[in-house]
Amino acid sequence: MAAKHLANCIFCKIIKGEIPSYKLIENEFVFSFLDIGPLSRGHALVIPKYHGEKLHDVPDEYLAAALPAAKKIAVALGAENYNILQNNGRIAHQEVDHVHFHVIPKPRASDDEG
Ligand code: IMP
Repeated sequence: MAAKHLANCIFCKIIKGEIPSYKLIENEFVFSFLDIGPLSRGHALVIPKYHGEKLHDVPDEYLAAALPAAKKIAVALGAENYNILQNNGRIAHQEVDHVHFHVIPKPRASDDEG
């Protein structure tokens, strides 16, 4: 299915380069960049290049590309402990209405020492 963008969506604007981002990965189906408010160092987002508000709004081929991208980021970061998180709806803490997968590295306590 052809990519679909929404004019007033901040993540669609990031995909189109209208809002700057620190890009990590881009291919036909997904775009990935560092989160502007990181919960930890390396906190990244992977978004489908198809505007869908929630997971069930996005075609499978776009979703299928998201986890391999998240995996690539986790490997590149050398993260041994990390969360992959995806929120749907306000009650579930979704703030940006364009599907996104968080990759959130979890540093070990010892990483903060020295
Ligand atoms: P949500 O709560 O799952 O919707 O997460 C939205 C995420 O998008 C938050 O972690 C924000 O910090 C992040 N975010 C919002 N605007 C931008 C941006 O312009 N660039 C990068 N990350 C953003």
